[in-house]
Amino acid sequence: MLFSRMFIPTMKEDPKEAEVVSHRLMLRAGFIKKLSSGIYTWLPLGLRCLRKVERIVREEMDGKAAQEILMPSVQPKELWVESGRWDLYGKELLRFRDRNDRELCLAPTHEEVITDLVRKEVRSYRELPLILYQIQTKFRDEIRPRFGVMRSREFIMKDAYSFDTDEQGAEKSYMAMFDAYTNIFGRCGLRFRAVEADTGEIGGKFSHEFMVLADTGEDVIISCEECGYAANLERAEVGRAGAPSDKTGGSYSRVRTPGKKRVEEVAAFLNVAPHDLVKTLIFTTDRGTVGVLVAGDREVNPVKLKNMLAFKFVELADEAAIEQATGGPLGFSGPIGLDIPLYADNDLLSMSAFVVGGNERDVHVVGVERDDFKVEGHYDLKVARAGDVCPRCGGRLTATRGIEVGHIFKLGTKYSEAMNAVFLDPEGKDRPMVMGCYGIGVGRTVAAAIEQNHDENGMALPFAIAPFEVEVLPVNTSHAESMEIAGSLYRALLAHGVDTILDDRDERPGVKFKDCDLIGIPLRVTIGERGLKEGKVDIKTRNDKEPVRVPKEEVLERVMEHVNAAKSR
Ligand code: ATP
Ligand code: MG
Repeated sequence: MLFSRMFIPTMKEDPKEAEVVSHRLMLRAGFIKKLSSGIYTWLPLGLRCLRKVERIVREEMDGKAAQEILMPSVQPKELWVESGRWDLYGKELLRFRDRNDRELCLAPTHEEVITDLVRKEVRSYRELPLILYQIQTKFRDEIRPRFGVMRSREFIMKDAYSFDTDEQGAEKSYMAMFDAYTNIFGRCGLRFRAVEADTGEIGGKFSHEFMVLADTGEDVIISCEECGYAANLERAEVGRAGAPSDKTGGSYSRVRTPGKKRVEEVAAFLNVAPHDLVKTLIFTTDRGTVGVLVAGDREVNPVKLKNMLAFKFVELADEAAIEQATGGPLGFSGPIGLDIPLYADNDLLSMSAFVVGGNERDVHVVGVERDDFKVEGHYDLKVARAGDVCPRCGGRLTATRGIEVGHIFKLGTKYSEAMNAVFLDPEGKDRPMVMGCYGIGVGRTVAAAIEQNHDENGMALPFAIAPFEVEVLPVNTSHAESMEIAGSLYRALLAHGVDTILDDRDERPGVKFKDCDLIGIPLRVTIGERGLKEGKVDIKTRNDKEPVRVPKEEVLERVMEHVNAAKSR
């Protein structure tokens, strides 16, 4: 491709709306263009990256015998009513009516349509297992679209769905997809981690998020360097710390803490550490009002609370419910004398002489022991953080940030039961298919790659997904020998199947170098008059500071060495 012919609407100024590097660079380098909030056009350079990611995705999916299809993005309401999600999905689901007043939606995901397809076409256990996938446009009316294509409203997703006859089969499909995802993100040249994620109502161990490691990521990953345990913050477990306290109770006293409500205020006033306080949080649940106790410097993780104690829903209680349950106002709840079920975090096991709320305005209780109130039990209920004990090996947990680029999930029979997707087993009995679903944000993967690979001059994309692999850059386009060498190298590289761009523009060298760095082309060959006087040209990788000068006769061979090394990585 000739640079002069490329449609690259770059931006000179930094776009104001861009909060993260990838968004800023994608706009500046002419990868994407905003149409309206959370809705973008992919321009030629960006689309080249996107297509390269897609190609890798297709190869790996096909490698696991998944078959590509393409489903519609406009879907009838009826299917969503059948699955129960028409009412559950909320405002992210964009709904509208056609000329016949039929209700439709723009697909945020495709479980309904795929389940409908498979239930109609698959009859017998002989036709299973089946994995189908597509690369297709999704629409989710996100509350706060941001970071460009990283969290947009319209975006491109690869979604795959597996159908098996039983749990074991479903687990095999799941592992095949896990494997494919590991290959995909590895081949894209990304540093990533597969982390355990919440499985919600399905339960079990079969949900992983694939996270690209980047400081700007929205998600927190808790992991253990020693044993490899990794989970997202929502799910991350914490091991027990500290020896259990054996102090007996009965020696507490009530003290006045006028106007002191927040943990730090109470701790400072009583001259103790925040960790010496116990917070009593009142939750409304499907089993009525309950209290949850955590150390003052920790937070309750509502997802763990819900899963651990098998609640259908948990929600912080409002002021009225708190007053009704405790007799005191918000901010002064405590466990002593409460007659609602109390659940304590494991930290309380080792705490002694702690401070709790007095269930009365401006009153706290000091010198409290575990004996002084009754709990249903001690559980792992708090939000994990760096420095906590690893739940698997007892090592120390660390926290890193990541961008979720993929999510694999065992669905079980949730949709097949709701929508009656059954097959005949060998005994001739109807059984629901066991399903899995597997998503990759293709556009988000491009953005995450930039987030992870850039410097002050622009993108530094991995070879496998960069818009071009090599740029041939003649410094002075009116110098005949430069142009001749550049032209023949360019043609030779194309003939060798190397994705090459020739910067044939009559621009200042500084402008050309800047653009090449901004776009993040992994390998640059600079052909200048000065070098040619010695019969040499310069080869530079995007991540090296200095070029390597090579004899012009060897340049093709040397470039091919780089290319082949990058391809075999
Ligand atoms: P998130 O928690 O980031 O909202 P999600 O759990 O809603 O993601 P899934 O429904 O599992 O995402 O979708 C599969 C993949 O699609 C995600 O892993 C992500 O890479 C991508 N994705 C989801 N929402 C968006 C979006 N608004 N913009 C771009 N990509 C998205
Ligand atoms: Mg989402």
